Amino acid sequence: MSTESTTVIPHWIDGARRVSTHGRTAPVFNPATGEVQAQVALADEAEIAEAIASAHAGYLVWSEYSIAKRQTVIFAFRELLNARKGELAEIITREHGKVLSDAMGEILRGQEVVELATGFPHLIKGAFSENASTGIDVYSIKQPIGVAAIVSPFNFPAMVPMWFFPVAIAAGNAVILKPSEKDPSAALWMAELWKEAGLPDGVFTVLNGDKLAVDGLLTAPEVASISFVGSTPIAQYIYETASKHGKRVQALGGAKNHMLVLPDADLDLVADQAINAGYGAAGERCMAISVVLAVEPVADELIVKIQERIAKLRIGNGASTPEPDMGPLITDVHRDKVTGYIDIAEQDGATIVVDGRGLQVEGHENGFFVGPTLIDNIPTTSRAYTEEIFGPVLEVVRVQSFDEGVALINSGAFGNGTAIFTNDGGAARRFQHEIQVGMIGINVPIPVPVAYHSFGGWKASLFGDAKAYGVQGFEFFTREKAITSRWLDPALHGGINLGFPQND
Ligand code: NAD
Repeated sequence: MSTESTTVIPHWIDGARRVSTHGRTAPVFNPATGEVQAQVALADEAEIAEAIASAHAGYLVWSEYSIAKRQTVIFAFRELLNARKGELAEIITREHGKVLSDAMGEILRGQEVVELATGFPHLIKGAFSENASTGIDVYSIKQPIGVAAIVSPFNFPAMVPMWFFPVAIAAGNAVILKPSEKDPSAALWMAELWKEAGLPDGVFTVLNGDKLAVDGLLTAPEVASISFVGSTPIAQYIYETASKHGKRVQALGGAKNHMLVLPDADLDLVADQAINAGYGAAGERCMAISVVLAVEPVADELIVKIQERIAKLRIGNGASTPEPDMGPLITDVHRDKVTGYIDIAEQDGATIVVDGRGLQVEGHENGFFVGPTLIDNIPTTSRAYTEEIFGPVLEVVRVQSFDEGVALINSGAFGNGTAIFTNDGGAARRFQHEIQVGMIGINVPIPVPVAYHSFGGWKASLFGDAKAYGVQGFEFFTREKAITSRWLDPALHGGINLGFPQND
């Protein structure tokens, strides 16, 4: 047994690694080899309480830092991240399995939010109305909310936490990050970077764990907000439980993203983008395209083009040189879930055009691989169509018109992302107006908004009102006070008047 397999990944509490001693752990795999490379500590009640107390103390210190001092720390974090992001990419690939360039891609999209946060003074400014009533000024100030908890999924171990923590910290809050237990090391690496950047101890905490840790955060009075990203059933549970405990909550859930292809679209461009958006990160992206809605007569030709491109894809260990196109899935359990959905599609009468089940990668026979899979004529009543698969599976539904495609997208439970491929500006404009989805691409397959807009879906893809990052992120992590002020001047005093204050 390698010494690595006995490594227990600790928490990060009070600006230091906090080794857990009670022995409750979960395995962390290398998905490309199937080996257990470490164990991760699963917090017990005492560790949860310790993390929350430390974060609360950190908040009291950090929230009194001047804007200028906070900005210095955020800039330092950005510089360190930019200089050392290669280390983080390697950690992500080792635990998640995605290819190295894709790991770097997620870091860069997260770094965008750090860069947004360096300009935070502009985004937390209040407002001032002089002489709202005679001699009375009214103004509002934005203050931090306290301890902000983030519960993140396995598929973006760096980017998703970075959707929230740069904004929360810039706004003067302390953060407790509960990363996915499947790939927790990125969080620890980022915690060490914050320390190096000069963030006071307790302001960034990593609490490793499972449901026990999450429930501890959901119910603790010292935790002011929950930012969750993960599957829909858990997102709904988080939303309901956190709300019941009086917290602000934004809970982003699962997805089933459709690409509507109109007959006038360039089918080579469409096939390239369907491949990129369907199979990138082995389909483990909440903005992955999982359904191609082909408006006839293009389906046959498009399927041939996608099939030709699949034949050229290289699947392997994401850390290998030369780099493959696609890595493994996160665990064997998830691999079996994905192949189970392909079984369901087959049983429900769909045509499996390209079958990724049972793929063996030479030298990595125990890795959690599923090959790119293409399914035609998936019945829209099949669970393989209505549910999220979260793997390298692209399904084709043939429709007769734009309206039929839009109606199908709008009838789904999710509303995260969608895309239309066309050269018809009028159709694209109708699409953006009529579609019931939070993020839309026009000839762009994965329309993740830039940091100064906000990320979030509709329907079962987001519970709560606030999207991630952008102006909405700063709104979520601050609370406003409105102040009505008069500096006493006998001439304007007004004397005794028991009526409700009126403006004059
Ligand atoms: P998951 O819901 O299983 O886990 C997410 C987090 O919740 C993890 O930290 C996990 O430890 C915790 N958790 C799991 N079960 C829990 C429970 N019963 N009680 C409390 N906490 C619990 O999701 P995942 O498998 O890690 O991630 C994949 C899912 O995330 C997919 O559904 C994907 O679409 C979704 N996702 C959505 C977005 C988005 O922006 N909408 C982004 C990324 C991922």
